[in-house]
Amino acid sequence: MDLRFACQPGCTKCCDQDGYVYLSEEDVRQAAKFVEMSPAAFEARYIYRTRHQRRFRKPRDKQCPFLESNGCSIHPAKPTQCRTFPFWPEIVERRDTWLRTARYCPGIGKGELIQIGSAMEIAEEQRRAYPELYK
Ligand code: SF4
Repeated sequence: MDLRFACQPGCTKCCDQDGYVYLSEEDVRQAAKFVEMSPAAFEARYIYRTRHQRRFRKPRDKQCPFLESNGCSIHPAKPTQCRTFPFWPEIVERRDTWLRTARYCPGIGKGELIQIGSAMEIAEEQRRAYPELYK
């Protein structure tokens, strides 16, 4: 299948989808540093921790505490899953999920052709960051 993708300026549709933003330990370190907090203070304020995973606590009116009307307020330090979207294994490895994701992501089908090898490398990065999600 042809993989074309170019994120569209001003769009935040992926950030508005129902779901959780999971964070690896490194994601927490990077985001905490970006907002000038210690990882422990950042976790206490923003993270919900289960036995195996960490995710952002969801504000009542949006999916992510760092999503503002003009986009991601921690963009340079955003979590791996936000950076790797839409090249998540469950999306990129199946034509039907890639096409279904294109219904809300206007960047799919635009821009340069992405080499399948590059897309799979990004998918692997996603798998490595969240081993519990891909057991
Ligand atoms: S939905 Fe697609 S185009 Fe829009 S911000 Fe997310 S990745 Fe970019």
